[in-house]
Amino acid sequence: MKPDGYRKDFPMLDRGEEGNRLIYFDNACMTLKPKAVLDKIMEYYSEYSGCGGRSLHSISSRVTEEYEKARRITKGFINAPNTNGIIFTKNTTESINLISNSFIFKKGDKVLGTDHEHNSNLVPWLKARDMKGIIYDHVPSKKDHSFDIELFKEMVKGVRLVAMVHVSNLDGRVIPIKDIVEISHDAGATVFFDCAQSIPHMPVDMKGLDVDLIAFSGHKACGPTGTGVLAGKIEILEEMDTFIVGGDTVKETTYDKVDFLKPPQKFEAGLQNYAGIIGMGAGLEYINNIGLEEIHSHEIGLNRYVTKLLGDEVDIIGPEYPADRGGIFPFRILGLNAHDISMIVDEVAGIAMRSGRHCVHSWFNGNRVESTARASFYIYNTKEEIDIFSDSILQIKKDFL
Ligand code: PLP
Repeated sequence: MKPDGYRKDFPMLDRGEEGNRLIYFDNACMTLKPKAVLDKIMEYYSEYSGCGGRSLHSISSRVTEEYEKARRITKGFINAPNTNGIIFTKNTTESINLISNSFIFKKGDKVLGTDHEHNSNLVPWLKARDMKGIIYDHVPSKKDHSFDIELFKEMVKGVRLVAMVHVSNLDGRVIPIKDIVEISHDAGATVFFDCAQSIPHMPVDMKGLDVDLIAFSGHKACGPTGTGVLAGKIEILEEMDTFIVGGDTVKETTYDKVDFLKPPQKFEAGLQNYAGIIGMGAGLEYINNIGLEEIHSHEIGLNRYVTKLLGDEVDIIGPEYPADRGGIFPFRILGLNAHDISMIVDEVAGIAMRSGRHCVHSWFNGNRVESTARASFYIYNTKEEIDIFSDSILQIKKDFL
């Protein structure tokens, strides 16, 4: 189907007057929500708004049924090894904090990332370094921005946990997840991937990849805000310590003892974000109905188009070829501030896009780049929107340089 067919599913794209509609290019931050998700949330609040699990009345049973259905949808979406290995969290960040707090480390254990980590997959490890005495290191990229697999083969020796970003929100770079998992396992390391930017945009098959742990956010995948997932092999999750504890995490307590439940309950303390998680399930189903291959190839098509229009006009930061940047178009215009660019396109053309350091401060500091502007696309974006974007950028250059 053409994007026009999907656009009608997203009420936000219908906002405002004809000719003055929102152009939403901040999809790496968060996608818009289709009506199917809004309807599902409304269904929860109007038909079975209550808590899951605890109470025995029929409303509670329905919540539990829908909540567990969302777990099965999530499992299917990523082909996870086990339904009980799907832990609901509030976002990727919380999922990673869960791992960094609960994974059993000895002092001196090594964790290895890349030089493209979002703060959410860097700061928890720096904290674990300071609190638990782990050693954190990263694999520097090659000059062409690609992942240095030969260097990685050396650096992974003796590593306890590889914790890497699959697709970078900075420049769309994809790293060879299958090879990394294989090499890491051969070296005896457990492997976690931050899939916040891959899950909504390309197929990720946990069983096929044999990856141990992954995390992603529902709100970047057509789902409601404040929804996320940690998915893992059950034996690894069982070995991990608890994280946030309290109601719903225990089989039994006395005044001085606690017997915890197994995953996922062990990690889902207190009443949950039922509306959000049930809505997230509807978001993943919506994406499934379109097909991730179609989404991915549409985004690359848009990236090729914008690169053709603006490639000689702006300084693209990241891989040279659009196909290696997925749906992300990061750029700067020397002599102009990235925040100014994003504020002007918003004002003159209603384009919402991102500017700054995209929570990857470490890369910007390490590479002495001040900041970038970033347009990021999804299934509902069109070439016509990119034409407007391109005209706005050319006009900015004319007016301000
Ligand atoms: N990892 C990557 C690669 C991201 O792009 C983001 C958010 O942009 C995150 C982690 C953090 O996601 P959240 O803020 O939903 O926890």
